[in-house]
Amino acid sequence: MFEGPLQDLIDEFSRLPGIGPKSAQRLAFHLMRAEPADIDRLQQALGAVRDGVAFCRICCNISDADVCKICNDSQRDRSVICVVEEPKDVQVIERTGEFHGRYHVLNGALNPILGIGPRELNIAQLLQRIGGVLPDRELADSTAQEPLFDTAPEITEVILATDPNTEGEATASYLVRLLRDFPDLIISRLASGMPLGGDLEFVDELTLSRALTGRFRL
Ligand SMILES: [Zn+2]
Repeated sequence: MFEGPLQDLIDEFSRLPGIGPKSAQRLAFHLMRAEPADIDRLQQALGAVRDGVAFCRICCNISDADVCKICNDSQRDRSVICVVEEPKDVQVIERTGEFHGRYHVLNGALNPILGIGPRELNIAQLLQRIGGVLPDRELADSTAQEPLFDTAPEITEVILATDPNTEGEATASYLVRLLRDFPDLIISRLASGMPLGGDLEFVDELTLSRALTGRFRL
């Protein structure tokens, strides 16, 4: 144990995910010797995050502007949407260079134990984006006999790229039920080769790239 601000900093770092006591100490000592300008930049970045990050109004990814760079890019295929759980998953898929459509970030996966239901995720935004009109009813009320959504002309395929674990699979199944209301929409899921129980973030680029090209229609 150290005394004063250095120990406070170590304690704060220790509370971060993936940072053990040794890493926390190393980071704190590094900053103790850092240039004041470097500390100022870190402080500014922390302040900016505290004040809230903005999200793209189309895909719900983290964005500097009202609409993110990917959604704004006229070279990207507007007919395909790849649905992911987190903003970091967008980065992972972008690195494969295999996907040229646009994304939709759910901001998590369904998890009843943690109280994360459809309304905690950006599912309504996804449906509206595909062209649906969303009346004030439970999302799960939509059935083939009585669909809640109109069909959309622009988007022809939705790729479900939620994590290959229990929550991700449950979320994908839930979305399939809703998306079946759009008669001409192709719904696909990443192909096998994805490690089960895993997280998209830890899948290597080649595997992910193959999973994308070999995606299967649901
Ligand atoms: Zn966007």
